[in-house]
Amino acid sequence: METKKLFYKSKKDIKTAATILKDGGIVAIPTETVYGLAASAFNEDAIKAVFTAKGRPQDNPLIVHISAFRQIKQIAASFPKSAKKCAKKFWPGPLTIILPKKDSLNTTVTAGLDSVAIRMPSDKTARKIISKSCPLAAPSANLSGSPSPTSAQHVIDDLSGKIDAIVVGEDCKVGVESTVISLLGEHPTLLRPGGVTVGMLKKVLPDLVIDPAVENELKTDQKVLSPGLKYKHYSPKTQVILVEASSKDFVDFLNLKTGESVAALCFSEEKANVKIPAISYGSESDDSEKAKELFLKLREIDSLGVQTVFAHAPKKEGIGLAVYNRLIRAAAFKVIKL
Ligand code: AMP
Ligand code: MG
Repeated sequence: METKKLFYKSKKDIKTAATILKDGGIVAIPTETVYGLAASAFNEDAIKAVFTAKGRPQDNPLIVHISAFRQIKQIAASFPKSAKKCAKKFWPGPLTIILPKKDSLNTTVTAGLDSVAIRMPSDKTARKIISKSCPLAAPSANLSGSPSPTSAQHVIDDLSGKIDAIVVGEDCKVGVESTVISLLGEHPTLLRPGGVTVGMLKKVLPDLVIDPAVENELKTDQKVLSPGLKYKHYSPKTQVILVEASSKDFVDFLNLKTGESVAALCFSEEKANVKIPAISYGSESDDSEKAKELFLKLREIDSLGVQTVFAHAPKKEGIGLAVYNRLIRAAAFKVIKL
């Protein structure tokens, strides 16, 4: 199939994107987190086409994106007080809330679960397309397992010829996927860290707990609250090993490896001192920059043609926790602590 290229600043193109979606097509759209591959949340065949285009495991549910509060009642069975508080504070924005699903909502979007994930993006293009079509089920617009797409080019590289259209917009401002919280259990639970940080959430949800799978590998007998947490994710073709160390120890470690088929994903301050091929993904002190750059740099690593890349882990604080969470999955949980 030929993938139509549409432009986010063209009113006519936005209308075309909405029409394709209403007609059951699948369209990649920009959001503030990463590019999403959207389908009508009410069209099972379109949602199945999203799973197929990405090669996404059938048991990994999609997030439904809305543009207005009135759409919630089409999707969720209830919207408790705690959800209202979060929505008021963080929507539109990079926060996804898991709620009981409405009976009438199909189970293809929820991968058979009786709960549903909902988010209202802050990106204006995304919201325009939703308001001109309908609530959209949209996972990241990449091939399943590869780094998430933070620019239109990444989407083209992964999905050109497999989807009906792409709305070409700006690069994503946050750069990592949304924060996911569940409000189903006794305590609100963080399932995936993102741009809305634990500190920000705790001001609204003081009893927030962090699911152990955020930082650690799940044991095979552990109950999975969020199916997406099970999978190896975000990986370039190069093997990634995460390194937790001070800058000095990290650089010393790397400089013993000259002559090996290795490279470094480092902080910008370290780059000049590293004697093996190195790509920096942001300043040590700027975790937002690291979040914005991470997936782009993971894609660039493959162009170095080395066997292994050692990635310097950020601190697990603020949006740094989201970066850590993605890197440890890119590394398939291989961590060296110096
Ligand atoms: P992606 O669309 O690739 O950003 O991934 C969406 C994430 O949200 C995955 O980790 C899913 O497992 C998670 N998710 C979506 N719906 C639910 C749900 N009903 N319950 C728990 N996790 C969910
Ligand atoms: Mg994804």
